Amino acid sequence: MQVSHNYSLKTHNTFGFDVLAEHFTRSANVAELQRALAWAKSRQLPVFILGAGSNSVFTADVAGLVIQMDFRQLEFLAPNRTGAAVIAGAGVDWHWLVQQCLQKQRYGLENLALIPGSAGAAPIQNIGAYGRELSDFLTAVEILDRTTGDVRLLNHEQCLLGYRDSLFKSDQGRDLIVLAIHLNLAVQDKPLCHYASLAQSLDSAGIDNPDSQTVFEHVCAIRRQKLPDPAEIGNAGSFFKNPVVSADQLKSLLSNHPEAPHYPQHDGCHKIAAGWLIEKAGWKGYRRDRVGVHADQALVLVNHGGGSGQQIATLAADIQRDIEQKFHITLEAEPGIY
Ligand code: FAD
Ligand code: NAP
Repeated sequence: MQVSHNYSLKTHNTFGFDVLAEHFTRSANVAELQRALAWAKSRQLPVFILGAGSNSVFTADVAGLVIQMDFRQLEFLAPNRTGAAVIAGAGVDWHWLVQQCLQKQRYGLENLALIPGSAGAAPIQNIGAYGRELSDFLTAVEILDRTTGDVRLLNHEQCLLGYRDSLFKSDQGRDLIVLAIHLNLAVQDKPLCHYASLAQSLDSAGIDNPDSQTVFEHVCAIRRQKLPDPAEIGNAGSFFKNPVVSADQLKSLLSNHPEAPHYPQHDGCHKIAAGWLIEKAGWKGYRRDRVGVHADQALVLVNHGGGSGQQIATLAADIQRDIEQKFHITLEAEPGIY
């Protein structure tokens, strides 16, 4: 087992924060992972499991052992009556997985194209975009339980997938390491394209019956045009979840701001666009120290270069306080802040 010490994580987090991992290793299979966990345990060190660092904000050096998941297996199973199973190791790059599935005529993931990160992190916040979520396809997750050392399969229900949420974010799930994800994908090419910006993009290209490859290309084009590329300006995508409020809270918001975008949920609550609240409160394009709020995307906090996780965390807390005061709505950070 190869362990690096005082290892820079600058290229392992999309904010580009220059923090050090006290110890760093990669694990490509269960035996390597068990060895790494035993190494940390024998030294009484904490362990941090890392994918591609696109949903992680490091505010300080990371104590203990950082294990980057490098499980790379990818299996396409023969179709059955309900679709076709695909099994991807935790270290498989998510966007590459989406491309491979399309090439093998396994459909559904095209709306989730160009989301950065690893397949193993995808269930952690149940990644979603353009009208789809991982939960639409996830049938099971292979995990290693750090408390017992057991390797087992959790089914879809056991993963407790919700809006940018899952078992793995809860106290009961924090010791579970995702080894691989099991998906059930369609073998018939019938993409979902009702999401407004996707539908508009297809419409303005004169396409009314797109195939999945076309949807993939349009999703990539919209994202490239709209979202800041972490290779050019450090960020972790949307910094806050869209808040879900009660009917009474929505009524109160609309009485002052009838134009506020809102989307009904099946439980009678309503999702409010966090980006709209932040823009309305005047934060869009705000800059302080070496960090700020993106000039075109109010939901995206950015590192202009040389900024720190601590600066981002302070800015995020100020935005949360301001939104609470102005709209009486609580914003919750989407990335993990460490
Ligand atoms: P990391 O940041 O490495 O890890 C995230 C969390 O998961 C950490 O707590 C980590 O400890 C834990 N973790 C990682 N791997 C494992 C594992 N194998 N087992 C157990 N725990 C693990 N998200 C969306 O949902 N939709 C989007 O459209 C979207 N767009 C984005 C656009 C940009 C430009 C960026 C930068 C981010 C975006 N995100 C989006 C957020 C991010 O891409 C996803 O959350 C992604 O799944 C994170 O993967 P990662 O491997 O980088 O996770
Ligand atoms: P957008 O289309 O401008 O919409 C703004 C917000 O309104 C979105 O966050 C979306 O919620 C919500 N919304 C829009 N239409 C909706 C509908 N018909 N039903 C329910 N909710 C609706 O968003 P955008 O910023 O360009 O992003 C496009 C998609 O990519 C979104 O799905 C977004 O979640 C995803 N994305 C996520 C991240 C991230 O880091 N998490 C980063 C970039 C983009 P939802 O977020 O629930 O879809």
